Amino acid sequence: MKMPARFRTHCPYCKKHTEHKVERVKPAKASSMTRIARQKKRQSGIGNSGKFSKVPGGDKPTKRIHLRYRCGECGKAHVRKCFRAAKFELVESQ
Ligand SMILES: [Zn+2]
Repeated sequence: MKMPARFRTHCPYCKKHTEHKVERVKPAKASSMTRIARQKKRQSGIGNSGKFSKVPGGDKPTKRIHLRYRCGECGKAHVRKCFRAAKFELVESQ
């Protein structure tokens, strides 16, 4: 999908419609000590690895798009619910 790089939308800090700039952000990476990582560590050793012997599944056809909207008036950024798209482009209008 294509999306304008800047557009007018509501700023939760100014509480009105202002010009916003769209920034792409990388999603936060899961920490090395997640619940599943602990489980895997606990069971690794001798014998069958059980559910962990499975090969991880393939990639999904669409990727999650993480965006941040920065207000041109106050300079503060806010986030909205991320969405999924196969292809994503920011188009600079004008
Ligand atoms: Zn603002």
